[in-house]
Amino acid sequence: MGTLSATQRPALLQQLSSQPVDLLVIGGGATGAGIALDAASRGMSVALLEKNDFAFGTSSRSTKLIHGGLRYLKQLDIKVVHEVGQERATVHRLAPHLVVSEAMLLPLIQGGSYGKWATSFGLWMYDLLAGVSGSDRRKMLSRAATRQREPLLREDLLLGSGRYAEYRTDDARLTIENVKKAVEHGALAANYVKVNHFTYDAQGQINGVEAEDLFGGNALRVAARLVVNAAGPWVDELRKENQSLDNKRLFLSKGVHIVVPHERFPIQQSVYFDVADGRMIFAIPRGKITYIGTTDTEYSGNKERPRTNLEDVLYLLNATNYLFPSVKLTLEDVESSWAGLRPLIYEEGKSASEISRKDEIFVSRSGLVSIAGGKLTGYRKMAEKVVNFAAKRLQAATGKRFKPCQTRSIPLVDGQLTSAQAVAVYRSNLQAELAKFNFDEYNASNLVHLYGAQSGEILQRFQQGGDWSETGLVLAELDFCLENEMVHKAVDFFIRRSGRLYFDVHSVKKYAPAAIEHMAARLGWSEQHAREELSLLWQELEWVTNFPTEPVSAI
Ligand code: FAD
Repeated sequence: MGTLSATQRPALLQQLSSQPVDLLVIGGGATGAGIALDAASRGMSVALLEKNDFAFGTSSRSTKLIHGGLRYLKQLDIKVVHEVGQERATVHRLAPHLVVSEAMLLPLIQGGSYGKWATSFGLWMYDLLAGVSGSDRRKMLSRAATRQREPLLREDLLLGSGRYAEYRTDDARLTIENVKKAVEHGALAANYVKVNHFTYDAQGQINGVEAEDLFGGNALRVAARLVVNAAGPWVDELRKENQSLDNKRLFLSKGVHIVVPHERFPIQQSVYFDVADGRMIFAIPRGKITYIGTTDTEYSGNKERPRTNLEDVLYLLNATNYLFPSVKLTLEDVESSWAGLRPLIYEEGKSASEISRKDEIFVSRSGLVSIAGGKLTGYRKMAEKVVNFAAKRLQAATGKRFKPCQTRSIPLVDGQLTSAQAVAVYRSNLQAELAKFNFDEYNASNLVHLYGAQSGEILQRFQQGGDWSETGLVLAELDFCLENEMVHKAVDFFIRRSGRLYFDVHSVKKYAPAAIEHMAARLGWSEQHAREELSLLWQELEWVTNFPTEPVSAI
């Protein structure tokens, strides 16, 4: 059985190199984590290797929607709309605290992408394909009703709106919960382990990988019957290493989101709105902030560090100010941002926003199985496809039989939270507990959205910790992550476990020193190591809050 405690790393690495596994997955994003869970729950022995932190790549930098993809309907990608639409309901059922229903407003404006009838029909079709029922079904609203719902919308161009159902999530937490569940089912998962090369048997078939422990540089050989490349934007690098890069290639498109305080852009629900260039973007309220995105531009720069530049920020600010003119957002309002890379499959003659988001499996002659394209929303289904393929291959090679896909009925977090109603009750109970220590509603909502029923364990750690201030609560959360979520660096916690760098950037500045001191004590860091961690965190802060004017590829 694996572990995700940061303190158990040496034993885990030892275990990884001591036994061959059925399936080795490269890449700890949503796709790789989903594959690891699917395979482990069917009875395969599984290793999952991630070169940075889990969800370091695209899976912490998306729009964070589990959606049916209205834009795909516009592109007539009916099959994608249908598949991901159905899948939304499944993922919501598996993690109702983390995949939360969100009403989306689609304003109709003069000269916009959609007319009234086309929108009404499109949203009706969308509901049909996605299996939406009851009060979640689309509603067309008059101009007056739209203004009532969203008074910030510009009046002179407004014709009305459509309201439809979406789900919002936290991509990085969805990924880490999949990793944790995979480990519960016996997978061995390690972050900060980079796969450098493949190893081959006498017939030229892949039989494992040579990897490197990025803390200390030790080489690691992991033997595997089958290797899956789920490296997102890095898929082609591994295909190149395997000498199997052919005409089908990735096309990387950069997408940026900016974050402003909610009080500066106090929309009452999420809005999906037109931009003058014919694209559409989202504005999504989340706790203390509203985030706006995304851009969609071809990218060939540094994959480790896609960065928000000034042009991206101005594009999103201008688009917002055009449709919400009273808000008058300026550069000074932008308090954080993130930039991600869509690992799309290249299509001749198509621009970034025209390329389909379909997923595809490539199998090389030496047996490397690569999965590319796709969406966060479809991660479970993509995993099912890959593992179906792997099960057949493994059965043919070894005679071993595996169970059919189980993930449709594996809740991502154990506990009593099986519905949105149960989540609401749990949240108000937690709120009552935290109110005893003078915390406001935000803390309970935030914890429950991120950790679900695991918030109880965080509360327990907080109560036993003796420091009943907000610092004490942050340290209890950190402690939980150190013990259960393989947090090795301060940035792991502040970016991909708690989301604070994006959604509560002021709290990073406030609590970073205490958090790093706590980590130093728990993980045995030297003073020098602790100082380096702090400066790494300040560097990340600088990256998300300062916007260069030059093209990012030149940095
Ligand atoms: P990644 O998350 O990038 O994971 C790949 C991992 O592989 C990385 O963590 C990387 O470090 C690791 N890796 C690479 N090479 C190696 C190696 N040699 N050894 C070990 N590890 C390695 N989808 C939705 O459904 N809803 C949305 O709202 C949405 N919005 C989006 C907005 C933007 C701006 C972008 C960019 C994408 C969006 N998507 C959305 C798409 C979705 O985010 C991606 O499809 C999904 O996150 C891809 O996950 P992945 O696991 O395939 O890739």
